[in-house]
Amino acid sequence: MSIFQNAAFYISAHHLSDLPPANGTEIAFAGRSNAGKSSALNTLANHNRLAFVSKQPGRTQLINFFSFNPDKGNDKFLVDLPGYGYAKVPEAMRAHWQMVLSRYLTERNSLAGLVLVMDSRHPLTPLDRQMLDWFCTTGKPVHTLLTKSDKLSRNEANQTLMRVRKELSENWKNCTAQLFSSLKKQGVEEAEKIIGQWLFANENQIPNTVT
Ligand code: GDP
Repeated sequence: MSIFQNAAFYISAHHLSDLPPANGTEIAFAGRSNAGKSSALNTLANHNRLAFVSKQPGRTQLINFFSFNPDKGNDKFLVDLPGYGYAKVPEAMRAHWQMVLSRYLTERNSLAGLVLVMDSRHPLTPLDRQMLDWFCTTGKPVHTLLTKSDKLSRNEANQTLMRVRKELSENWKNCTAQLFSSLKKQGVEEAEKIIGQWLFANENQIPNTVT
């Protein structure tokens, strides 16, 4: 069973002032619009519509919090950040979200790590690099999911993974990468292991790990 199995929608925030108190542990998911972020969240949570797989990229301009154990107090969250890089977003909205995202990533004390979702066919775009520049100043870990790996041959996928790992290690600290496919359910255990370690770092046991 997935550690994310019981994740349920908790709250949406449009402004930093709407965020819940920063006294739990949260893991944020960021990525370019259409990179496969909603699909990855749904795959990890084994849930078809936990994060609504948007048919209109760039329209989900909210920070969505998903709670793991709503019944036992809300202290652990997955946080779905708005997708970035959608060309048709008006400039004022883009500027608002850049400010919100950069401040959330750099100032949020309860944020334990960032999952950066990138299409394995177009990894490390300039905006992905911008996210890494912002977040890596905090010293907290980043795990990149190279999504839609089913669209690459095994050889292409492995070469992409090696190239991304090399570039990450040359430019930013504390970054890891893996291949991921929501379609083929590939890379789920690897991602859960890393995210679970971040979430439960100060606890003796990771509950309900994959069996
Ligand atoms: P988001 O905008 O980053 O949340 O991206 P979505 O999760 O909405 O996915 C964007 C598009 O990519 C949708 O048409 C998905 O069906 C497709 N997609 C997402 N993940 C995968 C995957 O692992 N493999 C394939 N082949 N397509 C995927």
